[in-house]
Amino acid sequence: MRQYPKPIETLVSLFTYLPGVGPKTAVRFVFYLLKQPKSTMARMASALQELHDAVVTCDVCKTYSTEPVCDTCRDGKRDKSLLCVVAQPRDVGTLDAAGFSGRYHVLGGALSPIEGITPDKLEVASLLVRLRQEPVREVILAFNPDIEGEATIMYLSKQLQSFSVRVTRLARGLPAGSDLEFADEVTLGDAISRRWEI
Ligand SMILES: [Zn+2]
Repeated sequence: MRQYPKPIETLVSLFTYLPGVGPKTAVRFVFYLLKQPKSTMARMASALQELHDAVVTCDVCKTYSTEPVCDTCRDGKRDKSLLCVVAQPRDVGTLDAAGFSGRYHVLGGALSPIEGITPDKLEVASLLVRLRQEPVREVILAFNPDIEGEATIMYLSKQLQSFSVRVTRLARGLPAGSDLEFADEVTLGDAISRRWEI
């Protein structure tokens, strides 16, 4: 049973493909768009159409790029001895904003046997190839501190054992501006064990 005219229903069902968007939000989006000028809609439509044509995956680090090799990989000022392995392209931006100046390798996800994400579905082989070719001295495994992240760190650290590289992971700590009272036990325990001298 259709509630709205077909063009509305079609766009509503397409919006529900997006993560975190349910039917109610999708309807709200479509009604909002109906009130926008036709020119705005045309720009959105052409941006969507261009997305797949203009965006490729960097041959080296596998992040999104408009060139075969991305800006970060072409940047000669970056420290080639530091390679930070992340799950998603968006993590590159986050770590860059935090001041990381080495290079990256985007795995394309984290291990999750339940969701069928096995090592062969990730950019593991290309990572090992890079380690054989590039002057990397330290590999930083920058994954979320959740089950998938921990599984990925365990798996990768085993794979990296045969390479003469230092393998590190992100320190856990208390978020800035937070209250000790609200920190979970794992975070607080880690913060105590990694305390600094002042
Ligand atoms: Zn790149």
